[in-house]
Amino acid sequence: MHHFRYTGNELHCESVTLAEVARLYGTPTYVYSAATMADNYTRLARSLSGLDVQVCYAMKANSALAILRHFANLGAAFDLVSGGELRRVLAAGANVKRSVFAGVGKTNEEIELALRSGIFSFHVESEPEMARINHVAGRLGFKAPIAIRINPDVDAHTHAKITTGKSDNKFGIPLKVAGAAYEAASKYPNLHIKGVQMHIGSQLTDVAPFVEAVRKVSPFVADLKARYGIDYFSIGGGIGIVYRDALASGSAEWWDAQPAGQRPLTPEAYGAALVPLLQPLGLKILLEPGRFLVGNAGVLLSRVEYVKRGSAKNFVIVDAAMNDLVRPAMYDAFHEIVPLHRDTSRAAMVADIVGPVCESGDCFAKERSIQQLGEGEYVAFLSAGAYGYTMASRYNTRGMAAEVLVKGSTFELIHDRESFETMIVNEHVPAFLK
Ligand SMILES: *Cc1c(COP(=O)(O)O)cnc(C)c1O
Repeated sequence: MHHFRYTGNELHCESVTLAEVARLYGTPTYVYSAATMADNYTRLARSLSGLDVQVCYAMKANSALAILRHFANLGAAFDLVSGGELRRVLAAGANVKRSVFAGVGKTNEEIELALRSGIFSFHVESEPEMARINHVAGRLGFKAPIAIRINPDVDAHTHAKITTGKSDNKFGIPLKVAGAAYEAASKYPNLHIKGVQMHIGSQLTDVAPFVEAVRKVSPFVADLKARYGIDYFSIGGGIGIVYRDALASGSAEWWDAQPAGQRPLTPEAYGAALVPLLQPLGLKILLEPGRFLVGNAGVLLSRVEYVKRGSAKNFVIVDAAMNDLVRPAMYDAFHEIVPLHRDTSRAAMVADIVGPVCESGDCFAKERSIQQLGEGEYVAFLSAGAYGYTMASRYNTRGMAAEVLVKGSTFELIHDRESFETMIVNEHVPAFLK
């Protein structure tokens, strides 16, 4: 559920008219709903009550400082994957003492920064990394808290580029050899074995792979608790969101109308299936949700530049492009696209909705049926809050979009649109070319 809906014929985020935001700050602009993020967080935390849960928001989904601050205020910690992300947490005025550091390629500098900042735990992805963390910790006089990421070899049935828990992925250590990896870790003098971690993939809309993974690794986790006294089990992130019926899924009625068995995963169903499996372990449970917390809490506003009508095809050319929102080009992802001003008296048109970038891949939707649109009108790409802005680039020398946060009837710019001057500020033409 979320807080984007038409009131009259104007699309609103909470109580704010989105066309007003677009007029004020221009486009392309990401707009986020603080209430939607808070609701998502609260529902998830509540659905796992009965467990000792620590929610570590996977900030790679959306790392705007304002959003980090919002989640910190709600009680979240963070799942971070780089020194830059760690510094963002600090810059947002949050601390990293309950946060975890994941990723397959941690550098010496990042390990040092995390140790000095008092990281809750490193999620170790390989034996060489374990040796490296031990070495850096020893040099600095720390005992590094670690958990090993195990790869349960479960098929998450999601897009190939976002599945991570199969044995042919680069992530984690296979369950078969994980016992030996823990044994090796226990011999390092500067490591403190604190937990165990897994993450099987992203955008899972069925609970079955989560259940399968937890069932599969639970005996091993219990064994680790007995052997090394671990105190937490991180079950990763991956809860999916609704993309296809994004607008409709804002209401409880839509969810109630979905036939049982076809209803996308809810936090309540996730909790109901997993709590009974996790409770007997008697461990703190870490969750690392990214997309679920922010995905449906954000939209990307864009303006129609041209409507190009052809004999074979129509094109709606908008001012947002693959550099602003790469998911369609990268993952063949579907985003619902709706007009900010709805006019039911107009007929629908079928068009490809494309950006201005010089690549055929710069296409948001093919043969999409949408209300007839004219130049200068606005549209919103829904479910764009996760892996939108954070994956954006400056391709075609297009500055980064602006970002706005809405709370009730107020809204504020949380990230200025990038100017041309700041885009080139770190570039230099060498003297030998002058
Ligand atoms: C990306 C990632 C997450 C978050 O995944 P979502 O699908 O956004 O919930 C959690 N844990 C790890 C280790 C990740 O790499």
